[in-house]
Amino acid sequence: MKEQLIVGAGLSGLVAGINLTREGYKVTIKDRRPAVGGKLNIPGSEDEIINIGDGTPMNLERMFKYTGIDFSPVAVNLGSVENYLYGKTFHLDFNVGEPTYLVERGPGELSIDRHLYKIAADEGIEFQFNETVRDCEDFPPDTIIATGFSGELWKKLGLPSLPAFNYQAMGTIEHDHTAKVITYFDEFTRDYAFYSQVNGVRGAVLFARGEPLRQKSKDRFREYLADTHGILFDRWHEMGSYLSPPLTWSYPRLFARNFILTGSLSGSIDPFLSFGVHGALVSGKVAAMTVMDRQKGVEEFRKINRAYNAGLLITKLHRKTPMPLLKRATWSVMKAYPLVAPLMGNRLFATLPGYMKVSNSK
Ligand SMILES: Cc1cc2nc3c(=O)[nH]c(=O)nc-3n(C[C@H](O)[C@H](O)[C@H](O)COP(=O)(O)OP(=O)(O)OC[C@H]3O[C@@H](n4cnc5c(N)ncnc54)[C@H](O)[C@@H]3O)c2cc1C
Repeated sequence: MKEQLIVGAGLSGLVAGINLTREGYKVTIKDRRPAVGGKLNIPGSEDEIINIGDGTPMNLERMFKYTGIDFSPVAVNLGSVENYLYGKTFHLDFNVGEPTYLVERGPGELSIDRHLYKIAADEGIEFQFNETVRDCEDFPPDTIIATGFSGELWKKLGLPSLPAFNYQAMGTIEHDHTAKVITYFDEFTRDYAFYSQVNGVRGAVLFARGEPLRQKSKDRFREYLADTHGILFDRWHEMGSYLSPPLTWSYPRLFARNFILTGSLSGSIDPFLSFGVHGALVSGKVAAMTVMDRQKGVEEFRKINRAYNAGLLITKLHRKTPMPLLKRATWSVMKAYPLVAPLMGNRLFATLPGYMKVSNSK
């Protein structure tokens, strides 16, 4: 029986592992956390759990066909999203085109992480938890590296990266299981913030890539949630140990040294809005394909990331546009959204890795 090592029991690592086990491989997955979706086990953040609803457009039926995994038990349909954009509020119907879902992240019974873990464990994958990999030099060729945003291996593998800073708060809500997302853009960052709640977990994150968050932005976001929505958290904290794909044309990448990359580490993430769930699921499948047939995997990786450069161009333009012009342009786009979105259909989310490939597949 062929053996396969995977580092990282997150979305992409688990999808890759499940697919390889089904092809007869004996799969072992190492993860730094004590359990799937569990506490972070990162110095300075040991007690933290990323307990939040990640929003993602997805064609559930076709994602099932593509990855061989049914995500419908853990995908909660999200109707509309409230967007605060530089002082104005817009409500967008996210069911125009293709449905958008919230998937709970973290250790909860209804989370996508647990869902994948249960399938993986049932199919016989061996897990080695509390194993922080700092050096993969001695690992076999074609080891799959699926460590997401955490720092060490980007540097060890010589991968270019951009530091990312998160200001976040997470927790639970006793009696409100409604699915809800609020997005928030202000003039103090070129990235953004969002609040989400699903299945009784809730979280708020403000992030910035490249430079640390401005205090004004953090204060305003907290005040906005409290004053406009009555949303309060006991504790906010800053996480500064993330790395994200650089905003350069050198990404995405399927290989580093003789290892196979997947998920955020491979750059399979939307460069503009940092939607990473879709790309992680699809690229996990591609990593498995690459182990079995390198050429096929390379071609498929190119296909799933075909729109990356378009997304990067939008991101670069967004970052360079002077703020007064950016505000007016954004408001105009939002006003046109209800008319334009139905015409665009699923092309609205074309820059999400794998999105067109999966949603147009038969
Ligand atoms: C707060 C937050 C909110 C987000 N919101 C959204 C959203 O709304 N929509 C969306 O589409 N995307 C969102 N994303 C992005 C999305 O979560 C990621 O793109 C996605 O999880 C990537 O999957 P992955 O498999 O690459 O990594 P992950 O799912 O993060 O898995 C990486 C795994 O590797 C393990 N690991 C890391 N380093 C090591 C090491 N050295 N040794 C051993 N194990 C290691 C980790 O413990 C983890 O289990 C968000 C991300 C964050 C942080």
